[in-house]
Amino acid sequence: GTVRVEVDLAGRSYDILIGDGLIASCGSEIARRMPSVRCAIVTDSNVAAAHLATLVESLERAGIESATITLDPGEKTKSFAALEAVVDGVLGARLERGDLVIALGGGVIGDLAGFAAGIVRRGMGFVQVPTSLLAQVDSSVGGKTGINTARGKNLVGLFHQPRLVVADTAALDTLPPREFRAGYAEVVKYGLIDRPDFFAWLEKDWRAVFTGGPARQRAIAESCRAKAEIVARDELETGERALLNLGHTFGHALEAATGYDGARLVHGEGVAVGMALAHRFSVRLNQCSADDAARVEAHLGEVGLPVRMADIPGSLPGAEQLLSYIAQDKKVLRGALTFILTRGIGRSYIARDVPASEVLSFIQEN
Ligand code: NAD
Ligand code: ZN
Repeated sequence: GTVRVEVDLAGRSYDILIGDGLIASCGSEIARRMPSVRCAIVTDSNVAAAHLATLVESLERAGIESATITLDPGEKTKSFAALEAVVDGVLGARLERGDLVIALGGGVIGDLAGFAAGIVRRGMGFVQVPTSLLAQVDSSVGGKTGINTARGKNLVGLFHQPRLVVADTAALDTLPPREFRAGYAEVVKYGLIDRPDFFAWLEKDWRAVFTGGPARQRAIAESCRAKAEIVARDELETGERALLNLGHTFGHALEAATGYDGARLVHGEGVAVGMALAHRFSVRLNQCSADDAARVEAHLGEVGLPVRMADIPGSLPGAEQLLSYIAQDKKVLRGALTFILTRGIGRSYIARDVPASEVLSFIQEN
C-alpha cells in the first residue's frame, strides 16, 4: 500500500505519498486536497516518453485540465532560458495564483519548476512528482528550488515548499541503472548522518532496494522521514540542515573539477566519493574509527559507486586546485572551513573550524 510521510512545517505541512503506481492516482490525490484547480505540467523529454500520458490521463479522470511544458533533459536545463520558457508556458496557459505547477521528472525539473512556481504571480501552488531516485529521496523534499548561472550551481533560487509530493516507486523502473545507483548514494547518506540501524539494514538488503517492491518503498520512505525531520527543525538552513551536506563538500569540488561532465561524474557519484572521503578525513582527525570508514567504503563500493578519487575517470587537478573548489571564498583558503565530519556511522556533526591546511594535506595523501 501507499506510505504517507508528513513534512511538518508550522502551518504549512504537506504529505509525501510513496508507493508503486502512484502517478496514476495523482489526479484524485490533487483533487481531494485542492478542488477545482488547473495545472501546468513541467517535464523533460525522457520522462515524458515514459510517464507523461499516465499523469495526464489521471488528471483528466479527476476533471483537472492541464497544459504541458516539455524541456530537454539534463543539468543545462536549470537555466535562465528554460526558466523563461516555463514562466511563459504557465502564463500562456492562463493559470492563476491558486493553480498548480506540477514537476514531473528528476531534480533538474523539480528545482526549475519549483522556482518558476515560486515567482510566477508571486507564488503559485506547486506539486512534485519526482521520477528519479535522487528526486524521490532528496530534491523533492524540503522546498529548495533554483537554477544555475555561469558563476556556479544553484546560485539563484528560493525556498518554495510543495503542497504535495507523489513518489511513484515503480516509475524508477525506467530510470537508467547508473542514475539509480547515484540516487542510492543519497539514501546511504541518511543512514550515515544519524540512522545507524538504517545503514546496517541497507548493507544487508540493498539488493532488494535495487530490485523494487517493498524494500525499495521502505528505503525511500525512511529517507524522506530522515530529510523531513531535519527540514522541519531547520527549514531555512540556519544550522543543522547543513548535516544534509555530508559528502557534498568534497563531492561538489569533484563535480566542479570534472567540469560537471556527467559522462565522468554525476552528482550522486561525487557524493559517494565525498562521503567515503569525509569518513577517512574524520579518521585522520581522530574522530572516527578506521573500521567505520572501511564499512562505508565497502558498502558504497559493493553497489558499484566510486569511493576514491582514483575511481573517477580522467585526470583530476592538483590538491591546491581542489582545495580552491572547496573554499570558493579565497579568504578561507588560509583560514578555517566548515565540514560535515563524523564520530562514526550515524554520528555526523557540523565542524565549523577545520583548518584548510588539514584539508590540503588530506587531499594530497588521497
Ligand atoms: P535529472 O533530473 O537530470 O535526472 C537524471 C536523468 O534521468 C535525466 O536524464 C532524466 O531525464 C532521467 N530520468 C528521470 N526520471 C526518469 C525515469 N523515471 N525514467 C527514465 N529517465 C528518467 O537529475 P537528478 O539526479 O534527478 O537531479 C539532479 C538535480 O537535483 C541537480 O540539479 C541538483 O542540483 C538537484 N538537487 C536539488 C536538491 C534540492 O534540495 N532542491 C537536492 C539534491 C539535488
Ligand atoms: Zn546531493
